[in-house]
Amino acid sequence: MSTTSTTLSEVREKDLKYNLHSWSAQAGLKPEVITKAEGIYFWNEEGKRFYDMSSQLVNVNIGHGNKKVIKAIKDQADKIPFIGPAFALDVRAEAAKKIVEIAPDNMAKVFFTNAGAEANENAIKIARMVTGKYKILSAYRSYHGATYGAANLTGEPRRFASEPGIPGFVKFVGPYPYRGPIEFKNEEEATKYYLTLLREQIEYEGPETIAAIFQESVVGSNGILIPPKGWMQGVRDLCNEFGIMMVCDEVMAGWGRTGEWFAINNWNVEPDMITFAKGVTCGYTQLGGVIVSKKIADYFEKNTLWCGLTYSAHPMGCAAACATIDVYKEENLIERSKEMGAVLGEILEDIKAKHACVGDVRYIGLFSAIELVKDKETKEPLVPYGKDPEGVMKKILNMLRSEGFWNYSHENILIVAPPLIIKENELRDAMNIMDNVLDFVDNVIGK
Ligand code: PLP
Repeated sequence: MSTTSTTLSEVREKDLKYNLHSWSAQAGLKPEVITKAEGIYFWNEEGKRFYDMSSQLVNVNIGHGNKKVIKAIKDQADKIPFIGPAFALDVRAEAAKKIVEIAPDNMAKVFFTNAGAEANENAIKIARMVTGKYKILSAYRSYHGATYGAANLTGEPRRFASEPGIPGFVKFVGPYPYRGPIEFKNEEEATKYYLTLLREQIEYEGPETIAAIFQESVVGSNGILIPPKGWMQGVRDLCNEFGIMMVCDEVMAGWGRTGEWFAINNWNVEPDMITFAKGVTCGYTQLGGVIVSKKIADYFEKNTLWCGLTYSAHPMGCAAACATIDVYKEENLIERSKEMGAVLGEILEDIKAKHACVGDVRYIGLFSAIELVKDKETKEPLVPYGKDPEGVMKKILNMLRSEGFWNYSHENILIVAPPLIIKENELRDAMNIMDNVLDFVDNVIGK
């Protein structure tokens, strides 16, 4: 098989010779060579088809190969591929308008970045500028990006390469009722417990020093941790009481993933800022940004916004964003996420009931996780936190992949987050593969 003059296996060879791959020791890597991607599928060099059950990095929400978005990017490339961020431009104005229109009512303006980490970097600076305070609180078991500031927000091992961290970055324990210190009777009780901890921590840190609390509205790659009822309002109330900015990182949870435009809409709470990326353009080209409240926008009428990027509001990204938002609307993808999410929820509950290795399943819209354990009673994780010396999770992923199911894992948790365009029969077929692989895991743990 050949592409122009290069055979496909040579592509892998050249890739491994010249590219550094993320988050990995490079020896032993064997990246699939991808030759085609369409809808909810992509294909490797041998023509093997994979269900894209994580929408790549939970960003290709509209699926692969959407002609409308591709055309919008091509048209923009023909017209004006780049003009500096100080200039006004039709797609730049329109993209910000469309985003503000779908954001919570208190939101007013957008500062565009290239991607998610940069969105969080700029939100940190904005919170500090507006409040005049410096401490930033964020949760353990969170991911906010890999640049220095965003990595210091991050509450899991991917932050360690950026430590010792930035002074003033403080971590709190966010809600994770499944692994709480006691069995909570209901969501309200869990909320009360975790809010008491947070209030105490704010008081100990000194509320007059705290600029912002950052949270993923639904924790994504760390295991789809869905805030219990009342948590978001509770954080909003604490922020109001102590003059702290509430920032929702919607880089992964936004753009229909949870069945709402933004995940925070599930709880009808208005944050001060929303950071976004991924699904705004679904990766057809890159874009991210910070949506700020009217109050913050007003602050910058008279005060300088000390933020800037050569590629802020890049025309190609803005053109892609306009077209992508139209696709979400025209194909009713926000509603479909909710509908297919209900089907996925039923499938996952069956999986949990059936498999000894499944301790918990969590789902909201098409955003879901399967938490694997050695023992349902003790909840001992299938692999210990931060370690997997025998590569157990990798073996499970490889089994899924050999059956054509592509997703990823984090710690002892399998993430399932297909494109929002997935049909019911496709979802059921793909989850059948998961079911079969989990049978094998049950056998391995000896149940
Ligand atoms: N925030 C969240 C919640 C994310 O999931 C990610 C990436 O996965 C980021 C921020 C960082 O985004 P990016 O990789 O586009 O910089």
